[in-house]
Amino acid sequence: MTIYLDHAATTPVHPEVSARYVELLGTLFGNPSSIHSYGREARKWLDDSRKTMALSINADPNEIIFTSGGTEADNAAIFGTAYAMKNKGNHIITTNIEHPAVLNACKQLELEGFEVTYLEVDDNGLITSEQVRTALRDTTILVSIMYGNNEVGTIQPIQLIGDVLKDHNAVFHTDAVQAYGHVPLDVRNLGVDLLSVSAHKLNGPKGVGFLYQRKGIDTKVLQVGGQQERKRRAGTENVPAIVAFSDAVKLMQVSIEDNRMKYKDFGDILKNVWDLKGINYEVNASDVEKLPHVLNISFPGTDIESLLVNLDMAGICVSSGSACSAGSLDPSHVLLAMYGSNAPQLRNSVRFSFGLGLNPQLIEEAGIKTAEIINRLVK
Ligand SMILES: *Cc1c(COP(=O)(O)O)cnc(C)c1O
Repeated sequence: MTIYLDHAATTPVHPEVSARYVELLGTLFGNPSSIHSYGREARKWLDDSRKTMALSINADPNEIIFTSGGTEADNAAIFGTAYAMKNKGNHIITTNIEHPAVLNACKQLELEGFEVTYLEVDDNGLITSEQVRTALRDTTILVSIMYGNNEVGTIQPIQLIGDVLKDHNAVFHTDAVQAYGHVPLDVRNLGVDLLSVSAHKLNGPKGVGFLYQRKGIDTKVLQVGGQQERKRRAGTENVPAIVAFSDAVKLMQVSIEDNRMKYKDFGDILKNVWDLKGINYEVNASDVEKLPHVLNISFPGTDIESLLVNLDMAGICVSSGSACSAGSLDPSHVLLAMYGSNAPQLRNSVRFSFGLGLNPQLIEEAGIKTAEIINRLVK
């Protein structure tokens, strides 16, 4: 019996979503750019899905650009803004705990002559809007701050940062890939110009996402070709995947509040089991507003490698932080930014992340099995 507790890495496709996805793969094959009935049918589904996405973040349908996922949306936002604005300035502000899709885009831009300020987070993984204000220059063209961190869950003060940027020309991007579907997002309130989302983090299929691009914001188009997506992103849209994505969004929207309470319960169950069994543990980023589904725990006296191997053998699927660096076992850049390079947390922390298909019994079982492993590993 395996218990999947790695929903921040990716999620199972919701059964209702996959049923219709499979059906549409067979029937909805028309090209939405064709003018005949098959094309018009695909166009109708595409337009409906775009409306669903727009509504979900209080945007206009014309402000939604479908992409191949979160990474492409992040790249389109960052490179697209940098290249469009390069005659206005060359300075970018971000944080040192962004997803690699943002961090490595910024590193690439540094090689191309842009200057990047990586704001340092505190030991809760948090930055302040004051740090952004202080870092701003006349030449700042882009500020990219993630909404909720995928490794420790910390939620950044995006709205306050939006306020700071109101009187500045810099474009404001947020990577909301991990937050979308878990916390309500309203782009007008937040004051963001660009926002990235991916379907596979909220029980939709992989390989589809969107970039919200506020009307009037200019980015250089990175993928050229046909006229799709109002000429913002060429290539025939994957309509069945986009419809499945919008089905997943509708399901998530109605359950955000229930899930929040459920996941808080799950966290409490794990902690109760560990308390009862006398396990020594600490929650990373414990003192801050966080995404409800992410719980990053340090187990003093253990090390990640044996922890992950033993948990996997016991059927508990968790990860050491970002899926993207999981294969390598490099210390997490997020925990490094929070605690410094000598901190024991870098070597003994694992991320539990919750989602579809879990219940209190499974969580308790996972907690008990984890406790047995910790007791074995800690000498
Ligand atoms: C998963 C993730 C991404 C990348 O999204 P893909 O659709 O997998 O390319 C980007 N940012 C964050 C915060 C993520 O969690």
